[in-house]
Amino acid sequence: MELETLKLLFNKHKEVLLFNRYIHAEDIAPLLQKLALKCKVSVIGKSVLDKNIHTITLGSGPKKILMWSQMHGNESTTTKAIFDILNLLLSDEEVSEAILKTCTIQIIPMLNPDGAKAYTRVNANQVDLNRDAQDLTQPESVILKACFEAFKPHFCYNLHGQRTIFGAGDANNSATVSFLAPAQDEACTITNNRKRAMEVIAVMNANLQLQIPNQVGVYDDSFNINCVGDTFQTQNTPTILFEAGHYKDDYTREKVRAYIFQSLLVSLDYIAKNAVSGEAYLPYLDIPENQKCFYDLIIRNARVAQDGDLLDIVIQYQERLIGDAVVFIPKIEKFTRRNEFFAHREIDAKEGVVETVKKEAITIGYENDLVKLRNDEISLKLTKS
Ligand SMILES: [Zn+2]
Repeated sequence: MELETLKLLFNKHKEVLLFNRYIHAEDIAPLLQKLALKCKVSVIGKSVLDKNIHTITLGSGPKKILMWSQMHGNESTTTKAIFDILNLLLSDEEVSEAILKTCTIQIIPMLNPDGAKAYTRVNANQVDLNRDAQDLTQPESVILKACFEAFKPHFCYNLHGQRTIFGAGDANNSATVSFLAPAQDEACTITNNRKRAMEVIAVMNANLQLQIPNQVGVYDDSFNINCVGDTFQTQNTPTILFEAGHYKDDYTREKVRAYIFQSLLVSLDYIAKNAVSGEAYLPYLDIPENQKCFYDLIIRNARVAQDGDLLDIVIQYQERLIGDAVVFIPKIEKFTRRNEFFAHREIDAKEGVVETVKKEAITIGYENDLVKLRNDEISLKLTKS
């Protein structure tokens, strides 16, 4: 699809009621009500804290695609993109009709509503649902498994969000979007099944490269059968992990939301129009692997004591839910050799001493919006978001 068309469709169909990072069940409830007038919305079970978990089903075609978002409660970007794409798919755009004639799409928009409400990765029992695919100790894991078995999808989309610490490869490129076609055995064999997932990822990557060159990564594919993607892949369903990541200054993840929307759309359009044999998987192998090489903010060329060595002060934002908003609190993560890591924002201390606002030595773990550099107060707060 033409890039201009994709951008236009996003702007036209973006769900304006969802924005920012904190998205929970009460936010999507009115949207589900509205959707129920146009397609099938079902309650498929309840979370630990008795919240409804829904599926949305649309289309009538033979190719079945199952998607789930917010398995990790604090990873809300893909949920925003899900409602954007639903608005598009239920409109009278030509592309939507073509997809829904060929595909049946089932979406769990929020698998972990308790985690979403608390803004945590884990569910209400403090379990990471993406490590519970075999033991199935949690109701949310059982629901997803039951959904998979009943629907028998040809493709699975496992929708997540990643932290700001990842680079796409080891150069100075933030991993704005990452993917994975998970392994299905210890040897990470590139099976036909994985090739199909890789082929679809290659198509999405080609589109993203036009806009965010070198900012797409793949996760390492070491096999972990406790992860949902690996489990579904072992059952020979091509499964794609999506990770909405960081774009410069996009802490609200509104920019990357558009890239996820586009990726969903180009992949659905591709699956609708092609047999997806896996033959065209090779470009996937050229996508660089995600590396943990970024931090939010680094004060370079700094000292933490008058006669101390020159070093970098590495700062990472702590996402805290305060009231009804996610707040980003700067925390001193560590002191490192100079230029050991990349940063989304940099401050040059020009060999000056950095201290707390009370002119005390700063320590690892220190949290404050301000520090003192020589006699000036320097703000560590997000500059834009
Ligand atoms: Zn996740």
